[in-house]
Amino acid sequence: MQKIAAVIGTTGVGKSQLGVELCKALRGQVINADSMQVYKGLDIISNKMPAIERQGVPHHLMDFLDPEKEYNVTDFERDAALCIDKLTSEQQLPVVVGGTNYYIQSLIWQNTLSKSESPRRSPSPERYSEFDNVLTSELYAQLCKVDPVMANKWNPSDRRKIIRSLKIFHDTGKPQGEIIKEQQEQLKRHGLPAKYKSLIFWLYADPVKLNPRLDERVDKMIETGLFDEIQELRKRVVDGSVRLPGQDLEKYQRGLWQAIGYKEFDSYFTALEANNSTSSDLDKIRQECTERMKAATRRYAKRQVQWIRNKLLPTVRNSNGDVQVYLLDATNLDVWDSSVRDKAIEIATAFQSNDTMPAPVELSEVAASMLSVPPDAQDTHSRVLNWKKYTCPICRTEKGEEAVLNGEMEWQQHLKSRWHRKSTKHQKLVKERLRPLQEGSTPSAS
Ligand SMILES: [Zn+2]
Repeated sequence: MQKIAAVIGTTGVGKSQLGVELCKALRGQVINADSMQVYKGLDIISNKMPAIERQGVPHHLMDFLDPEKEYNVTDFERDAALCIDKLTSEQQLPVVVGGTNYYIQSLIWQNTLSKSESPRRSPSPERYSEFDNVLTSELYAQLCKVDPVMANKWNPSDRRKIIRSLKIFHDTGKPQGEIIKEQQEQLKRHGLPAKYKSLIFWLYADPVKLNPRLDERVDKMIETGLFDEIQELRKRVVDGSVRLPGQDLEKYQRGLWQAIGYKEFDSYFTALEANNSTSSDLDKIRQECTERMKAATRRYAKRQVQWIRNKLLPTVRNSNGDVQVYLLDATNLDVWDSSVRDKAIEIATAFQSNDTMPAPVELSEVAASMLSVPPDAQDTHSRVLNWKKYTCPICRTEKGEEAVLNGEMEWQQHLKSRWHRKSTKHQKLVKERLRPLQEGSTPSAS
């Protein structure tokens, strides 16, 4: 089995640096796993490590694609696998570095769950035009009949997901809920085999310390030329060499449009291009956009950690020991060398020479707590199969219908909502008003 190392973690935590340090110590080369850094140019908006800091370590799958092109996870999987073959044959350690978590997941595991969940058959759109003029409520009723598991999972008004499940039933002749059940059983029996013997370093920093660092980084990006890159992109949109995503919302999550910064500064550049705002107005808009970009960066970092804990760690646990995750604490940059670099090199050296490696939870207290499974974490299969809809016994919708909440999270949010608190208060008042009457009319037993 070929061996690879990987460095994952949130944006701005030092992944690129550790990647280079590992390569220098271990005869390795970097394979980029960041969906933005595959593009040529756009160095600032995509957070590319400056060439000089790469210290001569080759970086593959970086800086090679024209911004007009789209690059997806299947492309990455294919290109990275070729790269790993080549490096392995040259006795170089492939070090996969990047923040696009699902790239790394789909590289390491044969059948990532998300992929097998929506089996892709040959698309035959004409067959589905039958859905076009059907009311969502009727489609939902159809789904309830053929696939009660998925009907229970989806919101009755979520037309897109209802149609997707119906399509799977039409394509495979099997309800999607049934397919998920079979996958779950297979997973229980065989685990989820990994394609590579993998050593993953998760670089982690306490958000309290990380967030100011992320804010500073946004300011630095602006100082060093972020706006030039955004303007260059906008020019390309105007002259038609790149197309803005269409109506399809999912498209915003593809290509370079998902780079944090482009969307966030839209109102600033629109005002600038219209050329009819005072400079103090422009300043104000720029400030707002900067704040928006900082907030988006923090949210992204938070999502990346959630993804590692809720998706990656449970998958690692099913991998029959071929994948190991070590958390390294990068909260305090003053002790980077001892708490990150040296530890990583030591572990990776043992990994390469098949020596005994330390237990991941023994590395630090942070490691012990972050590597534990969150109590409410469930694998994707169980989450669908155990899905629950809740009916609030107190609240009624405006139409006087029962309030149905889809899933635990919605239910918990509902319990804290103003709507629910108002209904509860109202119910209490009604009860209080009724009590004297009831007490008066019911003869006391004593
Ligand atoms: Zn309620």
